[in-house]
Amino acid sequence: MSRCAIGVGSNLGDRAAHVRAAIRGLRAVSAIVGVSSLYESAPVGGPDQGPYLNAVVLIDTARPPMSLLRDLLLIERARGRTREAKWGPRTLDLDLLLYDRLSLDLPQLTVPHPQIRYRRFVLDPLLEVWPDATMPDGSAIEPAAGAVAEQVLQRLEEEPGGAEPTRT
Ligand code: ADP
Ligand code: MG
Repeated sequence: MSRCAIGVGSNLGDRAAHVRAAIRGLRAVSAIVGVSSLYESAPVGGPDQGPYLNAVVLIDTARPPMSLLRDLLLIERARGRTREAKWGPRTLDLDLLLYDRLSLDLPQLTVPHPQIRYRRFVLDPLLEVWPDATMPDGSAIEPAAGAVAEQVLQRLEEEPGGAEPTRT
């Protein structure tokens, strides 16, 4: 089993419903070990667009990295994700942030996700659910110097699974 962190983002449609669907989709392919609070962030780059809802989900999975990436893209597609403008608005974005301490640089998959240290909406929820997460070389995950200070991020009180009836 490998422990992975998945970044979840949505800024189109019923954002909270997309985030909940992402958690259900991940549960279908792996064990969920942790779910961060929900955060709201101002978009970084791309066209003019609405604010994002963000979270990080920790999973234990038997899926190899490329297979897990395919699962993530399928879950996105099931929520109507399309790819138009780069960094444009999206119903659901699932990024593989960390895959244990693996380092991968494939044409379709870079792990750790190259933007982790530059995005507060990734760093804050990631360290909330996985405080001792490390980079592949064992170093702590810290913001890149000066990169995240001015990014607007708000932690919401609402639980990500909140509006969902609990199944036993
Ligand atoms: P972004 O998340 O940067 O806005 P997209 O969600 O449109 O971009 O993803 C584009 C492609 O990025 C995916 O099809 C995937 O092949 C590639 N990719 C590379 N590394 C990763 C990663 N760590 N997690 C998710 N996708 C990745
Ligand atoms: Mg993505």
